[in-house]
Amino acid sequence: MPTVPEALALMDYGPAPESPAIALDWLKDRAFGHFINGAFTKPGQTFAVTNPATGAELAQVTQGTDDDVAEAVNAARAAAKGWAKLTGGQRARYLYALARLMQKRERLFAVLETLDNGKPIRESRDIDVPLAVRHFYHHAGWAELLADEFPGMRPHGVCGQIIPWNFPLLMLAWKVAPALAAGNTVVLKPAEFTPLTALLFAELCVEAGLPKGVVNIVTGDGRTGAALVAAEVDKIAFTGSTDVGRLIRRETAGSGKALTLELGGKSPFIVFAEADLDAAVEGVVDAIWFNQGEVCCAGSRILVQEQVAERFTARLKLRMAKLRLGDPLDKSTDIGAVVHPTQLERIRGIVDKAIAQGAILHQAPMPEGPGSFCPPGLLTDLGAANIAHTEEIFGPIVTLMTFRTPGEAVELANNTRYGLAASIWSENITTALDIAGQVKAGVVWINGTNMFDANAPFGGMRESGFGREGAREGMLAYLTGDEASGKERKAPEALSPLPGSASGDTVDRTRKLYIGGAQKRPDGGYSYAVPGAQVPLGSRKDIRNAVEAAHKASGWSKVTGHNRAQVLYFLAENIAARGKDLGPKDEVALAVERAFYWAAWADKYDGRVHSTASANITLALKEPFGVMGVICPEEAPLLGFVSTVMPAIAMGNRVVAVPSQSNPIPALDLYQVFDTSDLPGGVVNIVTGPRGELTDTLAKHDDVAALWVFAEAETCTLAETLSAGNLKPVWTEQRQRDWTGPAGQSRSFLRRAVQVKTVWVPYGA
Ligand code: NDP
Repeated sequence: MPTVPEALALMDYGPAPESPAIALDWLKDRAFGHFINGAFTKPGQTFAVTNPATGAELAQVTQGTDDDVAEAVNAARAAAKGWAKLTGGQRARYLYALARLMQKRERLFAVLETLDNGKPIRESRDIDVPLAVRHFYHHAGWAELLADEFPGMRPHGVCGQIIPWNFPLLMLAWKVAPALAAGNTVVLKPAEFTPLTALLFAELCVEAGLPKGVVNIVTGDGRTGAALVAAEVDKIAFTGSTDVGRLIRRETAGSGKALTLELGGKSPFIVFAEADLDAAVEGVVDAIWFNQGEVCCAGSRILVQEQVAERFTARLKLRMAKLRLGDPLDKSTDIGAVVHPTQLERIRGIVDKAIAQGAILHQAPMPEGPGSFCPPGLLTDLGAANIAHTEEIFGPIVTLMTFRTPGEAVELANNTRYGLAASIWSENITTALDIAGQVKAGVVWINGTNMFDANAPFGGMRESGFGREGAREGMLAYLTGDEASGKERKAPEALSPLPGSASGDTVDRTRKLYIGGAQKRPDGGYSYAVPGAQVPLGSRKDIRNAVEAAHKASGWSKVTGHNRAQVLYFLAENIAARGKDLGPKDEVALAVERAFYWAAWADKYDGRVHSTASANITLALKEPFGVMGVICPEEAPLLGFVSTVMPAIAMGNRVVAVPSQSNPIPALDLYQVFDTSDLPGGVVNIVTGPRGELTDTLAKHDDVAALWVFAEAETCTLAETLSAGNLKPVWTEQRQRDWTGPAGQSRSFLRRAVQVKTVWVPYGA
């Protein structure tokens, strides 16, 4: 026993273990089947689930087969009608009951999660479980308010939900709560490494008296996930790696299944010279050493301003050395076990490569003994191309680079294919908000990091996926009701290319493409005939030129909504002035009305301020995507073009539009309207020609951030499949819309023309 002075000199922590008994009792001799139609099935072929801190087996869990998945989907299908028919208030009662039951078993959930995943009990107890409960309460509220707040919308039906191992219960809550609130039924597949809290949750569903089949849980590995993606479900919601997200995008292409993807990240953590450096050091602890760094939005790339880099790095190393690695069940442990030896191997593999590429690793030695433990690490002296800087490590290893100017910080921050989150540290709110606006990320924390709430939308941009979870925005991902209901679209007749102008006239009357604010001959020099005229046959090269022109017109995305509105009103007036030259009188009149309508929205589609943590303003800003592709409908050549291109540009996007193939003339003739309306060159670009080929190029193009396709099934499928490259969100409609009525100016055009950026701004004197 040390004396008091000795103890004070040591200042070490005593052990503070949480007993695993509560969870081990629950697990005792358990082999789990799936949870289907309100009951557990008999275990099938099972595999062992282990504790990553010790390697000890915790339970046997069933490997889900195709038949198991089909059975679960059938149960969910059978329950769907009844569940959707309940009033929102009735569904809310079940969600409240689930929240209460989870609260009652908080300790069991926390201990079980820590045993299964390896995360420190402090985190599962204080973060994972309370947030999961909060999600059920919050969404019980949405169920209650559904009819008032989402009029005309309805659930998708059956949702397949696939979740990863880093926040097993919390990801379940993020997926299941909104789906049920919206009136969907679900089949959930937890990760192979961490299925246990989901199975405990299944017991709560029984206890809450949830109607059979509303929640189904099928365990297994990636094969079970793949079977769920292929099953007869109406929507897939996936959280996991970008590679698997891409695979799912391809697999679901053309199936009509709705899709949301929450994928990986490589989020910047930007420290300005004027930041509170001690606070920023604590921020790094929460950004990358929370949950062993196994966090999709982990601040894994520190960018620190040069003049404070040395001071900051020194303090960071000191702090890192004080973190306690060890038994996840000990309440004074900061860093627990990595989820599985394979993940530890993966982390080590990337770090070794980073070192081989010149980086310097600052890290305590790897501990001996059982369990997969990885001490916190810092990589310095690395170039922007170093693997540790580009690849998601998904472990407690952070990189550090310096920058000189705010502009350079933004450039480095955005130098990644991902766009999930960013953390910005500065005591100057003007600088912080300026940078928040410029980083490409779905979530931005100012002077903070890894803050989450059920009422704050969460989700990514670029290869971090699309769709939002949480808040009103997240509810929309589980609702539908704005889809077109007309006839199935048919492919236009094949066109016959002609070299140059075949009119035989000395004057070349062939219309031209419209790119970068100027008329351009098609690159290949070919045209094709449509009734009464020849039109340019655009090619891949023309699309690429148009995308480049749209890229350069980035100023349009920065001007005020008021400025955009003025240009669009002027444009509407000029369409009216051109009148019948552009098309049939009625269609022109409607196009003018439509143009005025979208012009009116340019400065009114506001973001929101969400109520989340105290002393915090959580903003949900609506940002344009940037460059969008629009494959306009064949029908209504003028009205369809105006109805689809105008909302996109009203929201600040620049567009590459492919007009009706069989009658692109009204769209091409709009160039004069654009030229006389002060529309900056490059904001609207028009490429005519074979829709399939042009869609192919737009879908593959990495600089096209979103794509709308109003076309026949084949082209829609092509667009969805090829969009998997940069994971751009694609909105496809195979059925015709009634462009003359309210469907022609549905609110969904606005919703799909923007992406939400959530900005957390804490305050306090
Ligand atoms: P995966 O993307 O492989 O797994 C996520 C979920 O998808 C799991 O339930 C998994 O099943 C399932 N799955 C795997 N393959 C398929 C498939 N073909 N079709 C449908 N579902 C499938 O991520 P991992 O768990 O393997 O982790 C690998 C890397 O992914 C990590 O190192 C990290 O970089 C990243 N990651 C990102 C996450 C995020 O939140 N953004 C979360 C987790 C990982 P099972 O696990 O049972 O094989």
